[in-house]
Amino acid sequence: GARRETLLYLDGVTKSFDGFKAINKLSLVLQKGEMRAIIGPNGAGKTTMMDIITGKTKPDSGEVFFRGDVDLTRHDEAAIASLGIGRKFQKPTVFESLDVDENLRLSLAGSRSVFSALRHKRTVEEAAKIEAILATTRLTDKRHRLAADLSHGQKQWLEIGMLLAQDPELLLVDEPVAGMTDAETAETARLLREIAETRSVVVVEHDMHFVRELGVKVTCLHEGSVLSEGTLDHVSADPRVVEVYLGR
Ligand code: ADP
Repeated sequence: GARRETLLYLDGVTKSFDGFKAINKLSLVLQKGEMRAIIGPNGAGKTTMMDIITGKTKPDSGEVFFRGDVDLTRHDEAAIASLGIGRKFQKPTVFESLDVDENLRLSLAGSRSVFSALRHKRTVEEAAKIEAILATTRLTDKRHRLAADLSHGQKQWLEIGMLLAQDPELLLVDEPVAGMTDAETAETARLLREIAETRSVVVVEHDMHFVRELGVKVTCLHEGSVLSEGTLDHVSADPRVVEVYLGR
């Protein structure tokens, strides 16, 4: 059935906070290799949905499956991360006093201590992986720059690179272009499309211009459920979507 062939499968997911349904019978199906944009007004349940996928929040009811048969509701946050689901929050959390290369090496080393990770002589494979990540994240010529000295956009890209170092099959990205310049926003769309050639990506985003540049299927949430789904043109012309955006 549908569940077996998909990377991420949510069905009938519900989550209440003090009797208020933040997520209400939510269903979402993401294919392997797909990038999806999630939109919706404030309070629609976008963050709670991401929290449920990553195990930060447990749903009250409903199914959440990864790779067909892995029941994510039975795993905690750390286990879900190690299954191959990476999450980038809105605010970048890079190590400011380390350079770009060091940040990537630390992330590649995973749980190894900071000191042994930085002293560790990199293998040919590790060096190649870092080169590829630097190229993808447009940071090749910034590799020796301290993270503190990067622009806001470059810090966001470095953090995406740090997630890539952990090789996630599914990358969840929360409002990546908030605070970016137009040029950085356009570059971020290209960068995410490049990443989506080899991984699946879910992007929560308010910036409709950016969503258009992504050029992917859009899911609009409202009151914890899917209000409309399809191309951006289809979703933005849907009278129900127009109503929730204009009705505020
Ligand atoms: P979005 O990310 O789309 O803005 P959220 O998932 O943050 O929406 O929130 C959905 C609804 O659930 C909101 O009404 C919010 O106030 C409520 N909510 C989210 N988390 C909590 C919580 N921990 N306790 C109480 N209410 C919450």
